[in-house]
Amino acid sequence: MKYIQEELEILREGGRRLAIILDKVAKKAVEGTKVSELNDYAEKLISEEGDKPAFLNYKPYGADFPYPASLCVSVNDEIVHGISSGNGRVLKEGDIVGLDLGLNHKGLFTDMAVTVGIGKIDEKAQQLMEMTKKALQAGIDETRAGNRVGDIGYAIFNTAKHSGFGVVDELGGHGVGRKVHDEPFISNIGRKGKGEKLEVGMVLALEPMLNEGTKNIILAEDGHTFKTADGKRSSHFEHTVLITENGSEILTKF
Ligand code: MG
Repeated sequence: MKYIQEELEILREGGRRLAIILDKVAKKAVEGTKVSELNDYAEKLISEEGDKPAFLNYKPYGADFPYPASLCVSVNDEIVHGISSGNGRVLKEGDIVGLDLGLNHKGLFTDMAVTVGIGKIDEKAQQLMEMTKKALQAGIDETRAGNRVGDIGYAIFNTAKHSGFGVVDELGGHGVGRKVHDEPFISNIGRKGKGEKLEVGMVLALEPMLNEGTKNIILAEDGHTFKTADGKRSSHFEHTVLITENGSEILTKF
C-alpha cells in the first residue's frame, strides 16, 4: 500500500498530532490517576483538534464485539488492548502502563504506543522498557526500500533475544494509513530476507512487545485484552513509519 504526496502530508500531520496527544496523556499517567481518566483526556484532546479516535468501535478480525475505548491502557501483565473506558483501576507506584492510541486525521490513520512507569519503578521494569525501545529502533533501522518485511522482525528479535525477555510473536506490526490495520502483518520474529518487499511510500506501524517472562499470551475474558500467560509484566512501544528514498521517517513524532 503506497501513498501519494497529498496523503503523506495528511499522515505526517496526523502523526505529529498523535505524538503530541500521547505525550500529554503519558504525563497524566501518575499515581492516583484512574485508567478511565486517561481515555477521557485522550478523547478530549483528539476532538479539540477536530480529529477522531481510530480505535473506538473498531472491530478487529476475530473479535466478538467492537473495541469500546479510544485509548488502550495495558497495565503490568496486560500486553495490549486493555480497555480503558469505564475502568476504575487506579494507577499505583511501580506500575508500568502501556498507552496505545490511533488517530484518524482527515480520514487517514496513524498508530503509536509508549509504556510509562508510575513513580519509582524497579530495575527489571526499566530494563524491559529500554529493551523494547531499542528493539523498536532496530526495526525502524531496517525499514527501508529494498529490504523485506521479515528483515524488520528479524532485527527486532535479534536485538531482544539476548535480554532473556520474551518476544511476543502472536501479535505484531502492520500496514497503516487508509486502514487502522492493513497488510502486511509484521511479525516481531521475522525471517531475514523473507516476506513482502518494502517500497518507498509504504506506511507501516512497528510494535514490539516484550515480556518479563514467557512470550506466551492469553486473551482475557473481556475479549480484547491480551495478557502474559505467566502474569509477569509486559512492555510495548510503537511508531508509524514512512519508507522514504533515504531510509525511513518516523511520522509519530513532534
Ligand atoms: Mg498498532
